[in-house]
Amino acid sequence: MPQSPEGELLRSGDIMMKCYDCMEEDKDTDATSVCIVCGKGICTGHKKELELPVTVGQPPNVERLPRGLPRIMCHYCFDQTIEEGFD
Ligand SMILES: [Zn+2]
Ligand SMILES: [Zn+2]
Repeated sequence: MPQSPEGELLRSGDIMMKCYDCMEEDKDTDATSVCIVCGKGICTGHKKELELPVTVGQPPNVERLPRGLPRIMCHYCFDQTIEEGFD
């Protein structure tokens, strides 16, 4: 995996996104990622990474990719997803 600076994606003009969860705690932290579900900015300390299994092809030729796709979510969406996944 190539190392790419995560922060670059978040730069839009002079605006740097702040971590939403830190803001709720009265902290001012630059976000390093964006939640793929709700689009909130999240810092390294608050992000949750979830690897979702990925399958490709049509039955009966379904292949499971050896590596899932890493999904970056905020705590809130991560919790929602886990609950749904096991329901
Ligand atoms: Zn944070
Ligand atoms: Zn979220």
